[in-house]
Amino acid sequence: MSNSLLIAGASQLLTLRGRGPRRGNSLSQLGIVEDGAVLVRDGLIAAVGPTAKVEKLAAARRAEKVDVAGRVILPGFVDSHTHLVHAASRAEEYELKIQGASYEEIARKGGGILNSAKKLRAATGQQLKQRARAALEVFAAHGTTTIEAKSGYGLDVASELKILSLHKELGAEQPIEIVSTFLGAHVVPLEFRGKPKGADEYVKLLTDWLIPEVGSNGLAEYCDVFCDRGAFSRAQSKQVLGAGLKHKLMPRLHAEQLTRTGATQLAVELDAASCDHLEQVNNGDIRALAKSRTVATLLPGCDFHLGLKQYAPARKLIEAGAIVALATDYNPGTSPTMSMLMILSLACTQLRMTPAEAIAAATSNAAYSLGRHGRIGSLEVGKQADIAVFEVEDYREIPYYFGVNTCWLTIKRGQVIYVAA
Ligand SMILES: [Zn+2]
Repeated sequence: MSNSLLIAGASQLLTLRGRGPRRGNSLSQLGIVEDGAVLVRDGLIAAVGPTAKVEKLAAARRAEKVDVAGRVILPGFVDSHTHLVHAASRAEEYELKIQGASYEEIARKGGGILNSAKKLRAATGQQLKQRARAALEVFAAHGTTTIEAKSGYGLDVASELKILSLHKELGAEQPIEIVSTFLGAHVVPLEFRGKPKGADEYVKLLTDWLIPEVGSNGLAEYCDVFCDRGAFSRAQSKQVLGAGLKHKLMPRLHAEQLTRTGATQLAVELDAASCDHLEQVNNGDIRALAKSRTVATLLPGCDFHLGLKQYAPARKLIEAGAIVALATDYNPGTSPTMSMLMILSLACTQLRMTPAEAIAAATSNAAYSLGRHGRIGSLEVGKQADIAVFEVEDYREIPYYFGVNTCWLTIKRGQVIYVAA
């Protein structure tokens, strides 16, 4: 078996070359090579350029060849916000929402995240793993090669540790790269509610017990908090993220989704890797993000699934100079999709991002938000060969088609992990 692979004959090869992160106008620069090819060796990119040139290389002549026959090649998608491990869908709540119940009303009645926590605690590790593995195959089938995954449906010591251990096991057992995030501060669990200082007691459990345990066992790279009405306050979020930092867990934050809490300012203050959702940001928040290294990760799948009208102000964020990324927010309550393609379609029609901006946000900037831009998110010599090929002639057709899967081939570290039937 040859360890070299020549993927040639692309109508367009999107390299996304250049130093990240991409702000403003640079977000739409895709580094396109017409009639492009990429040569892969030992899981890394050995050459990128016009097919006629790459084909002539001695190593290319010995390589196994894939002719993509005029399709489009791009870096595999980096999905920088998912809640991968959960026990079941919440289709029953979906129906209630369609009939008029709000997300918060359902949450107050023990639905929402608490409903998922109840189901997760009752599930075995094997059941959870099987469900996650099936989802990972769907991610790969839509061109995604790396995902971030959050805990947060356990909400007790044993269950949270179980989820984080599953991230590790899944990362070792299947090809999609998994970046683990601890989200013990998703909501206050049922057993702490109704007590006078229940929320603070739970925060103390996280900061004094769970976070040190997660940090010392290397179970996560990031610590996240859902800072919103009905979840955690800005002060509580700061306590949790501060404890995370002490144990080398870099902060990320669910910010300004349902209400504006000032979480964005907190994210910037803590130099967080990413600040996600942002539907309710104000102009001051946008200016703060623009001046910072904190990525503004937009999750339009949530607004779409919940039928909300207010999407994040992507244009303002881009024009101000913030680092904008896109992710699925794959989760059973508000965004049940593994398809970055659907997210790109929503980014174009609802966030008014151009197809080029949306693609860069879902590859290069998303990789930056996970601290992996030196290795993934672009097709450049020396980077990891994480590649997706789409059944289109022009990259703009990737978001243009919606509700259909145009992914034709997915490659992770030089190995084919998905081929369209
Ligand atoms: Zn989320």
